[in-house]
Amino acid sequence: MSHLPEPWPVVLAILIGLALAEISFFVTTIYLHRALAHKAIVLSPRAKATCRILIWVGTGTRPRQWVAVHRKHHAFTDRDGDPHSPFIFGYAHVQFGNVALYRKAARDPATVARYARDLPRDSWDRWLFDHALLGLGLGVVVLVLTMGWMLALIAAGVYTVTYLLGAGAINAIGHWWGKRPYQNLATNNQWLAWLVAGEGLHNNHHAAATSARLSFTKGEFDPGWYVVRALVGLHLATLRHTKLVLKASRS
Ligand SMILES: [Zn+2]
Ligand SMILES: [Zn+2]
Repeated sequence: MSHLPEPWPVVLAILIGLALAEISFFVTTIYLHRALAHKAIVLSPRAKATCRILIWVGTGTRPRQWVAVHRKHHAFTDRDGDPHSPFIFGYAHVQFGNVALYRKAARDPATVARYARDLPRDSWDRWLFDHALLGLGLGVVVLVLTMGWMLALIAAGVYTVTYLLGAGAINAIGHWWGKRPYQNLATNNQWLAWLVAGEGLHNNHHAAATSARLSFTKGEFDPGWYVVRALVGLHLATLRHTKLVLKASRS
């Protein structure tokens, strides 16, 4: 990109950062959330291994910790015990301090032991995937080798801010502002769903946590669902339910 005239390399680096964040939102919702945490989707071994590497390099997240924190959120939604409810911690704390709240919950061995029993630490975790800095470092090295360190720094910065704010928005906005067609405190925001691979339809999700599809009615659109459908079409995934199973009725 260095031969491009100014300011295009910088613009391109920003766009690459945004595109990479978008990829991470899709991998997070499909692999960590819909497949591992709720078993709404069963991924093929090859798809699972690819997602595991992408999450490691893109976020450094340990899947069993993410799953445990998220299942605890569903077990205690918006009441004492919820690791990141804006009703408990305040909107701004969850929106901007989501990482700190997540880390606190993820590092509690009792939470992981209780809520992620089905995801025991294996030898791949021991040698590779539990080393977050190694994964993130690899990601940065790939960026530096392809873009040069200056543009890589810009792309990585844009990526990090976008991913962290998006994840914070799902937990904060997704329980604070928006429509509540089903009887839970989570909210639907279609604009947010466009930005974070469908996760903005969070009220729907809390009403039917094992649904692989987060859009339920006309006018709702879940971008993640179309990737899930493509994976099913490619025999890289199967669905747990073909019909919607709702926990609560529409209010
Ligand atoms: Zn929620
Ligand atoms: Zn969930």
